[in-house]
Amino acid sequence: MSETECKSYSADESQRQLEEVELQTNMDRIGHKIMVLSGKGGVGKSTVAANLAMSLAKAGKKVGLLDVDLHGPSIQKILGLDGQRAGCQQNGKIMPIRLSCNFCVITLGLFLDSEKDAVIWRGPMKYNVIRQFLKDTQWGDLDYLVIDLPPGTGDEPLNVAQLIGAGTTAVVVTTPQEVAISDVRRSLSFCKSLKVKVLGIIENMSGFTCPHCGRHVDIFRSGGGERLAAEMAVPFLGKIPFDPQIVESGDCGKPFVEKFADSQAARAFAEIIKPIIDDKTENEK
Ligand code: ADP
Repeated sequence: MSETECKSYSADESQRQLEEVELQTNMDRIGHKIMVLSGKGGVGKSTVAANLAMSLAKAGKKVGLLDVDLHGPSIQKILGLDGQRAGCQQNGKIMPIRLSCNFCVITLGLFLDSEKDAVIWRGPMKYNVIRQFLKDTQWGDLDYLVIDLPPGTGDEPLNVAQLIGAGTTAVVVTTPQEVAISDVRRSLSFCKSLKVKVLGIIENMSGFTCPHCGRHVDIFRSGGGERLAAEMAVPFLGKIPFDPQIVESGDCGKPFVEKFADSQAARAFAEIIKPIIDDKTENEK
């Protein structure tokens, strides 16, 4: 290696170490980092991530919500942030959007010119963006950072788990039927391989009570999530019923657990966060 190459190598190396320290310092200010995973799309993962984060904030915790579903960011829509932009400071730091004094959000959607813009990125590009969101966002001191991830076990969950490292935890969202449940096994085995602690499984769209006649219907069957949790020896956090008001609030950008705070589904979210807050989710990693 020539002298010039050697100098440039050591400059790169010290820059890399500096960035590593910055990432670590930012993450050390956050008590709990929770990835929200799902085996497949459409099971309500982003809805659960947004309402889980919101429920923790309603319980008085300081919460950040990071959407790294880079190819299909929907948190912006769900929380009514369309048209808003994230602030960037001169030193390159990112200012999250603050929805209340103890709840802030970052999603790629806040950087795109239009929600129709397609993000066409390969692995290294995604890694850099996720790293920047974790390292350069001014999260401040948080009790919880809830991270919404794309379905499956691809680059994004891997990057997040590796960048955050020890202390990363996960909640896995599924619907009750067998076809969704079999994909969850992959999410659980992903967590096991990366030593990510599974806080538990949430069964979403679990049963529907007709608002007119009061009859209960298990549209996607029931209990699959609970059975899988028992089989895989991970905690079962609870069931969220199918509720058309969740669709309504998601479409009009009004956070569900705030708008319909007295609904059965909002109460289910309030129950689900209890073991998370009490940290009664001990299980084998
Ligand atoms: P994913 O992130 O898994 O792709 P989303 O959170 O985007 O799924 O949800 C997909 C659709 O399902 C949205 O229209 C959302 O409003 C709806 N949805 C999610 N959970 C429920 C539920 N419990 N009851 C009714 N609709 C729901």
